[in-house]
Amino acid sequence: MGFKTDAIHAGQEPDPTTGAVTIPIYQTSTYVQEGLGKHKGFEYARTQNPTRTALEKNMAVLEAGCAGYAFASGMAAITALTQLLLKQDDHAVCTENVYGGTFRLFDTIVKNYGVEFTYVDTSNLGDLERAIRPNTRMVFVETPTNPLMVITDVRAVCDLAHRHNCRVVVDNTFMSPYFQRPLDLGADIVVHSTTKYLNGHSDSIGGVAVLKRKDDAARLEFIQNAAGAILSPFDSWLVLRGIKTLAVRMEGHNANGMAIAKYLAGRKDVQRVYYPGLANHTGHNLAKKQMSGFGGMIAFDLGSLDRAKRFLEAVKLCSFGESLGGVETLISHPATMTHASVPPEERARMGITDGLVRISVGIEDVEDLIADLQRAFEA
Ligand SMILES: *Cc1c(COP(=O)(O)O)cnc(C)c1O
Repeated sequence: MGFKTDAIHAGQEPDPTTGAVTIPIYQTSTYVQEGLGKHKGFEYARTQNPTRTALEKNMAVLEAGCAGYAFASGMAAITALTQLLLKQDDHAVCTENVYGGTFRLFDTIVKNYGVEFTYVDTSNLGDLERAIRPNTRMVFVETPTNPLMVITDVRAVCDLAHRHNCRVVVDNTFMSPYFQRPLDLGADIVVHSTTKYLNGHSDSIGGVAVLKRKDDAARLEFIQNAAGAILSPFDSWLVLRGIKTLAVRMEGHNANGMAIAKYLAGRKDVQRVYYPGLANHTGHNLAKKQMSGFGGMIAFDLGSLDRAKRFLEAVKLCSFGESLGGVETLISHPATMTHASVPPEERARMGITDGLVRISVGIEDVEDLIADLQRAFEA
């Protein structure tokens, strides 16, 4: 089936008791058993819940994996993956400037269990190869990165990592499976914050991991139940509902993203625009090859903190706030928000200047968005 058909139907049969076209929210903690050892495959709702199962099956199809598991947040999903892949004395390599919460998890929690991490620019294969050690077990890639949209060649990273017997995990939150399918490019595991594009309506926190290997899937299923950070039935239902319109929403984010990136690139008072759809973006050719769209995330440099501050306080339709991937446009200031904990010299080295502004472009009428930006530039 095509992607749009799968998004709407995969993992979802009409409800067997009523024929309800939409999978119900099975808001239950347990299930009545018919006798000793006799049940319908459902015993306790941490272990199995039909609403969550529908989402997991749906995501496994959309990401072309063998199984998916849904967690209470993107961070809970990534935590479970560290439990799957890493143990004491192991080493992992991670994209530098990954999502701040991922860095915090690795650097302040997983490290305490005797696991070492090395952060490199994974878009540079030489740097990646030099970082791999005999005990490296995981290469964690985020592509494109936030907020500068650095693109890593997933296929090349997988070829290299697999030669060294490491699993490759790709955080695909920014592109969603509609624009990028990491397992098809060779990755072993793909992870999402469903909070962002998959749910798409800024009204749920969740995460999902999809796996290629059956042995990894069996172990992650065990971890999901044993550690217990499951996604609730209601949130599972919300994400399933969101995914039904993922394709049309992503097309909208992409079209608006391209139009706004071009508008920004045409302004003399914008020093630089970071959007993989622009031909002068460093990762443009690679993005064209491994993604089928460029998405709705843009960063641009206004040159100074003062100008960024005035701009952010002047927008009206674009809401000033953290997060991304919702239908509404959100605008933020990486240096003082998502990257506030990164030391200033390190921020400067990566290009995250005080004048940098990030937009998660929504699917409003693009003329209205551009008019709002224009007003903020003139403020
Ligand atoms: C938001 C986000 C996460 C964390 O997800 P939560 O649902 O907030 O826990 C991980 N990776 C990326 C790229 C994100 O944007």
